[in-house]
Amino acid sequence: MLILECPYCGVHAEETELQAGGEAHLKRFGPGSSDEAFHDYLFLRENPRGVHLERWRHVNGCGKWFHAARCTQTLEVFGTYRAQTSAPPQDIRDKITAKRPGWTWREFEG
Ligand SMILES: [Zn+2]
Repeated sequence: MLILECPYCGVHAEETELQAGGEAHLKRFGPGSSDEAFHDYLFLRENPRGVHLERWRHVNGCGKWFHAARCTQTLEVFGTYRAQTSAPPQDIRDKITAKRPGWTWREFEG
């Protein structure tokens, strides 16, 4: 079972207490953007076998959204961080790099 630590209230929440919110760090494109940029924003998502950065909501707890860095293949969690963060914190990047040298995810890398 997937267990994530909520970075706001510190609870180690089981998957049933959480709501998955899809990919983290999406760059939003709206009116005035090109059709291609808007299309990519709406439909293109990362779907890696390995390191993934995701949005989760502590729905049966404090109700806040946060980000999680985990491996989709092994379910190993590298860390969680607040949703207002625009990039994974360096300590989490270092943890990922220690276990998955050379990892990349969109514009982020170890
Ligand atoms: Zn919480």
